[in-house]
Amino acid sequence: VSRTRLDRFISSHTGVNRRDVRLMLARGRISVDGELAGCIQQPIHEFTHVTLDGDVLQARKPTYLMLNKPVGVVSATRDDKHTTVIDLLDHPARDSLHIVGRLDFNTTGLMLLTNDGRWSRALTQPESKVPKCYRVTLANPLTEDYIAAFAEGMYFPFEGLTTRPATLRILSDHVAEVVLQEGRYHQIKRMFGRFRNPVVALHRLSIGDLELDSNLAPGEYRELVCPYPIAEG
Ligand code: URA
Repeated sequence: VSRTRLDRFISSHTGVNRRDVRLMLARGRISVDGELAGCIQQPIHEFTHVTLDGDVLQARKPTYLMLNKPVGVVSATRDDKHTTVIDLLDHPARDSLHIVGRLDFNTTGLMLLTNDGRWSRALTQPESKVPKCYRVTLANPLTEDYIAAFAEGMYFPFEGLTTRPATLRILSDHVAEVVLQEGRYHQIKRMFGRFRNPVVALHRLSIGDLELDSNLAPGEYRELVCPYPIAEG
């Protein structure tokens, strides 16, 4: 994420030297986020709206979308064979968006997309431990001993790590709700694989405080209104 000061920003966008930028500022030719700019050291980040003589120099809008991912769609921005989650969008910011935490091809449910790298990093960094809740349908009946195994963590030899404590709640014979605080490759399928119990359906219900809007049919999305305060500077 590029962050700079107002004088450097104007100078690099116009070729005007920084002393002359001061003059432009004094003459009221520069505005930042709709207000007349008053300070050459004002921090400018990727979503700051900057104009010079009314002409927009930068106007990237932060965009946050929630999508109900359908089965058979790839969590990628481009794919030669399959429909991607980006293909499902007709939003104007579509080409600037990236995915916040992938889902497998046949996994459904809550998928977040944004062009705000700070927001997506905050949600996906392993250290931030944002809980992700899934509804899992299994081929074979569940038993109580799954609960302790998920809570204890499982050693994944390929990565050489033990999964963080996960919560498993049995909802019915074949359906459980699982909360993970990380997202290892095929993690849920591999955890149930330890019990030789294939996952037949996997649906993400929430990421942190954000729950999938039940009005969204598979393939539908909606904008999120500022899910996170963008700090200045
Ligand atoms: N765990 C999986 O195995 N697949 C997903 O898509 C998400 C979590």
